[in-house]
Amino acid sequence: MKESFSLKDLPYKYDALEPVISKDIVLLHHTKHHNAYVQGANKALGMLESARQEGREIDMKAVLRDLSFNLNGHLLHELYWENMKEYSEENKINTELLEILTKHFNSYDNFQREFETAAKTVEGSGWVVLFKDKEGNLFINQVQNHNLLGIIGFKPILVNDVWEHAYYLDYKNERGEYVERWWDVVNWSVVLDRLKV
Ligand code: MN
Repeated sequence: MKESFSLKDLPYKYDALEPVISKDIVLLHHTKHHNAYVQGANKALGMLESARQEGREIDMKAVLRDLSFNLNGHLLHELYWENMKEYSEENKINTELLEILTKHFNSYDNFQREFETAAKTVEGSGWVVLFKDKEGNLFINQVQNHNLLGIIGFKPILVNDVWEHAYYLDYKNERGEYVERWWDVVNWSVVLDRLKV
């Protein structure tokens, strides 16, 4: 059976993240950028499938590179949309998660600063990701583009997209401002759920 991926609806309205992220950005980001990764992943899978059917050779290296770029792009965007929620002025983190983050990073402020610094210093386009390993240890890392520098086998718990398309219309080249304001739309209960599974 041929596998394929599809673009899910967002768990909130396109303007729900305002004023942190505008409706224009969310709409473009979801329907154009994210959608392009879904289509790209399906195209690469389609090429593999038709080559199998026809018993024909393809440029395997190029197709697999396309697949990893687009499929990781799709999966990272799903995590990103889901780990955000409607803007609220006081977006309080739950106590249980606060304790876990404090234990691993010495303080919540340390965690926040480390995550922000990692986000601000991603070279070019990419992501900042909080991962956990099988023992529940937490690591912050950067992902370049969608598919370079991640840690194989580690589970992503919280991701922020720092490609320019995620913030440029609202923040121009001020990635740091976007990264610092972004905490107001983080969905902490989703983050805690991901940590527990
Ligand atoms: Mn993006």
